[in-house]
Amino acid sequence: MSIETIKIPGIDKAVSRIALGTWSMGGSMWGGADNEVSIKTIRHALDSGINFIDSAPVYGLGLSEELIGRALHGVRHNAVIATKAGLQWDDGTVRRNATAQRIRKEVEDSLVRLETDYIDLYQIHWPDPLVAQEETACELEKLRREGKILAVGVSNYSPAQMDDFRQYTHLDTVQPPYNLFERAIDSDILPYAKQNALVVLAYGSLCRGLLTGSMHAATRFNGDDVRKLDPKFKAPRFEQYLAAVAALDVYARECHGKSVLALALRWVLDQGPTIALWGARRPDQLKGIEDAFGWQLSADDLQHIDRILASTIKDPVGPEFMAPAQR
Ligand code: NAP
Repeated sequence: MSIETIKIPGIDKAVSRIALGTWSMGGSMWGGADNEVSIKTIRHALDSGINFIDSAPVYGLGLSEELIGRALHGVRHNAVIATKAGLQWDDGTVRRNATAQRIRKEVEDSLVRLETDYIDLYQIHWPDPLVAQEETACELEKLRREGKILAVGVSNYSPAQMDDFRQYTHLDTVQPPYNLFERAIDSDILPYAKQNALVVLAYGSLCRGLLTGSMHAATRFNGDDVRKLDPKFKAPRFEQYLAAVAALDVYARECHGKSVLALALRWVLDQGPTIALWGARRPDQLKGIEDAFGWQLSADDLQHIDRILASTIKDPVGPEFMAPAQR
């Protein structure tokens, strides 16, 4: 299998264009997870040629990063680690905090949990309207000069916020929500990234599991699973999205001999300088990585896909429900 890769400025190794997302491994907001199975999943991803791993301190309140640190014993230098800063959770509620002081504390904590002395890509998780971009960006620039981080990214930023941020440091990546069903970035962030040579880390590439093709009308979520709050997984929309997935699966199989999961990943990869983040917490969930690489969707394919979506999803909705509170 030939893994497609892309370069991120500041990072020597080329990174795989599918990255392992580790939010669900943290367990919280995903109804729990099994730590040993999560570690096996990280190692399985590496063995399968996926060398790029995305995390954040808030995923399992440190647990996701700790599991990555454990999984990478002896193989740290084969992996490229992306993590984030800028969210606090001291009072039990996750809130934005991108002050220099908070970032400094977070980077030190992340380095300990990840059992490493550098972070390849360090991203601000959400813009903090209470802090000037100058303060946040200058702190990241200091960390880069100290060698604690190699590249700088932002997540959930608008083009105007990135313009401001880029006055104070070189910005390498942006991480927005992006998948076949959630395309708001087509009109602003994607063209901005292309214009300014930013690599786009697309999160929710599988729309929180919807685009894997494994869900059905009777699918239910456990405990604190974030999908209980997601309007896509509630009537009347759930049925519409499931119908879209079923039709996309038929199309992918008939026209390309692929599954809807491979189609969804390929769709993200064909939109520009993108990396598809694939959230997984069990090795078997990563089956079929190779099916996403080595082919392309044509203009006809893209039109057909859009027609399927228009005929099935009458009331589309985005991922806005995920935005954390301000302090
Ligand atoms: P996702 O990748 O669209 O979906 C992940 C979920 O899909 C998995 O947890 C799993 O759910 C299900 N799944 C994956 N492979 C499967 C398979 N082969 N068969 C059946 N189900 C499968 O969503 P995401 O995890 O939210 O997003 C990916 C990554 O992006 C995250 O892990 C995180 O690193 C990042 N992210 C960043 C932000 C941000 O604000 N920057 C926000 C969200 C996500 P089950 O285990 O329940 O089956």
